[in-house]
Amino acid sequence: MITFATGKGDGPATAGLRRNSGTIGNGSSRTGSPLSLNSKNTSILAKRNAAGFCSQGDKLALAITPHFFNLIPRDDPDDPIRRQMIPRIEETWKSPYDMADPCGEDSHMPVPGLVHRYPDRVLFLVTDRCASYCRYCTRSRVVSGVGEQELHTDFEEAFRYLETHTEVRDVLLSGGDALIFSDDKIDKLLSRLRAIKHIEFLRIGTRVPIFLPQRITPELCAILAKHHPLWISVHVNHPRELTIEVKEALERLANAGIPLGNQSVLLAGVNDDLETMKTLVHKLLMCRVRPYYIYQCDLINGSSHLRTSVAKGIEIIEGLRGHTTGYAVPQYVIDAPGGGGKVPINLGYILYHDNEKIVIRNYEGKIFEYPESGGDQSVQFAPQREYHDEYLYS
Ligand code: SF4
Repeated sequence: MITFATGKGDGPATAGLRRNSGTIGNGSSRTGSPLSLNSKNTSILAKRNAAGFCSQGDKLALAITPHFFNLIPRDDPDDPIRRQMIPRIEETWKSPYDMADPCGEDSHMPVPGLVHRYPDRVLFLVTDRCASYCRYCTRSRVVSGVGEQELHTDFEEAFRYLETHTEVRDVLLSGGDALIFSDDKIDKLLSRLRAIKHIEFLRIGTRVPIFLPQRITPELCAILAKHHPLWISVHVNHPRELTIEVKEALERLANAGIPLGNQSVLLAGVNDDLETMKTLVHKLLMCRVRPYYIYQCDLINGSSHLRTSVAKGIEIIEGLRGHTTGYAVPQYVIDAPGGGGKVPINLGYILYHDNEKIVIRNYEGKIFEYPESGGDQSVQFAPQREYHDEYLYS
């Protein structure tokens, strides 16, 4: 049976984390630098974390909210939440595949801070700050403000670009995380975008409901609801992140009429097994969040210890599809290195196709035929797998 724990548990924050500087949104605080951890908290750093902590250099700052810090047990160096948040010495390892900008965003940026890679939608990087920092962040080159690059979003230039590019109907606010802004700033930003008539659809990509659920106030929900249609993609990787407080925050957003989707990153030692992923997607549905994507971890510098094989991702999806509720099955994607965009990764369900029939495989591996209606020959599929008529299921 699925259960939700409170985030006010027995983690280290209750054992001595000081509230400190780093005010976010409505006044919540976070741990933002080594100096803001007191001696009791630094004692929970395993040796391997401590080395990473000291050598993080200019990669990505360490920051973590008390709520999320509370979820990390004191005595497990390989805890899945710790692995996402606390630097490890492995971050200094160099893999030949590592890149600073694995999704090729910088080369698709017509205006500083605005990425236009797909025909009808843009990614608007409205800040370089988040409530906490994920060690595998695909934008660690700019996010947190200590990376090798700086983000200088030109808001006025971006609005001008959007006004003149009438093909853009969908704007995704990300960064960084727009929900760390004040209510007033969020309202002004969304109002400015809503004033552009051809923009139909607004999205916010955020981890704030997970890191800082108390930020999802009724006032914030009312502001967001003024700008519908507005959708939110949250980012949850492990079922333990879905605490009672997070569930309630997500319900407040859902009650404001905001459709919620989740984007997970497949991470070694965090969620790279079927049972963990199945529990996660079931808990998400109970929080009224549709599991949307599982991303293969981008080839970001210093993340090789968190990356899994693509075979593992396929195995997880194969273990979900058909075996549980369709709404619980996310699309597994690779963001093609260098700027190719998201490519869906599916094991072959189409075994053969010509103008007479299509041969398909179901989740149990059974094979079926469906007659093709003829006519349009423009769509051609190569057979993805050898099959023989005698395997047909009837
Ligand atoms: S919340 Fe998103 S943008 Fe911020 S550090 Fe994590 S992955 Fe990066």
